[in-house]
Amino acid sequence: MDRIGDNLSVRLYHDHPYQNQFTAKVVRSWTEGSKHFAVLSQTLFYPSAGGQPHDTGTLGNVRVTEVYEESKASGDVVHVLTGPLIAGDKVEGQIDWARRYRLMQRHTAQHILSQAFLRAGGWETVAVNLTSPVCTIDFSSEPQEEVARQAEALAAWAVYAASPIKQFWVDQGELHNFPLRRPPKVSGKIRLVEIEGWDLAACGGTHLKNSAEAGPIKLLKHERYKGGTRVYFVAGWEALEDYSQKHLVLASLAEKFSAPALEIEKPIANQAGEIFRLKGENMALRDELAERIMRELLALSPGLTIAAEVPGVVLEAVGKRLSEWPGVLAFLVSPGEDKARLVLTKHPGRSEQLDALWKEILEPLGARGGGKDIKLGVLPAGAIHAALEEFRKQLPRSIRPTP
Ligand SMILES: [Zn+2]
Repeated sequence: MDRIGDNLSVRLYHDHPYQNQFTAKVVRSWTEGSKHFAVLSQTLFYPSAGGQPHDTGTLGNVRVTEVYEESKASGDVVHVLTGPLIAGDKVEGQIDWARRYRLMQRHTAQHILSQAFLRAGGWETVAVNLTSPVCTIDFSSEPQEEVARQAEALAAWAVYAASPIKQFWVDQGELHNFPLRRPPKVSGKIRLVEIEGWDLAACGGTHLKNSAEAGPIKLLKHERYKGGTRVYFVAGWEALEDYSQKHLVLASLAEKFSAPALEIEKPIANQAGEIFRLKGENMALRDELAERIMRELLALSPGLTIAAEVPGVVLEAVGKRLSEWPGVLAFLVSPGEDKARLVLTKHPGRSEQLDALWKEILEPLGARGGGKDIKLGVLPAGAIHAALEEFRKQLPRSIRPTP
């Protein structure tokens, strides 16, 4: 068993990383708002520290949602609970093993990778984040593809070597006997973690008992970060899940494109090219259609007051063109399933006020929308004919543009 500093909690997770049940006495308990807290005589619950997230689980019949150290290094382990526990009571604890095992895989893989990058390129680990399945390690060195590729291969060999992992305590004064990957951040009694023949580091986290359990370890990408490099990786079950998910996506794409999975980029690139070409063609056709419809409407409306239905694909384009035609006032509508889209616009030479027309004719029919020189909006589908009628009735006279 080990105690750190003067705190009361015995941290069982250090010596028993593979145990998931324990019994303890509630030493202290308190409540703040809807949250309940407890400190135990001993605990298997790992508190968030060193980049490794906390455990979850149950104490008696209340859930443990969060675990933290009350203050750095010498602090008690505080369990945040969904219900109260009573000081002095005995309580059965159970940690969520599936979660913890994944955290140990992430964490052990990080040790393996930190050493792999050190060997491959002399890269020093600056920070780690193990809070989600895609973990990161930040290094102080500039990105280098070759180093990443080599480190990944070295990490795979470290996994295949199936090296035993030991965790033990030494006094600060004995540290010179141990070739640590990086100096410890704490003083006094130091906990060391050794992956036999591979890595030796000071660490207070939970680790696997054998490097083989951390595999597979897969680098996903690396990028420039704060003057160094951030490396993204997945490990263990989560690497397998990542592979499975990506395989499913790739297999489904391969089927859709009737191509071998590893040659899928070519048909996708071909399709993207085709879409680009069709978009250009489509735009030209729309322009042509809008132009033709505009000329038809002008020919049919010698008074230049236009109220008409037009196809939805060119509604705005026809409206825009008409707004630039001297003397025009246009109300265009395009029927949809339950709503019709509309455009109300005019040439600046017309004296009518669009706001007033909107208010008098369209608003009472349930139109909604806005805009200044070109008003866009929607109208209930049933009101299309009434709206067209109103415009034809109220604006019957032609107002010729002044040349
Ligand atoms: Zn560690």
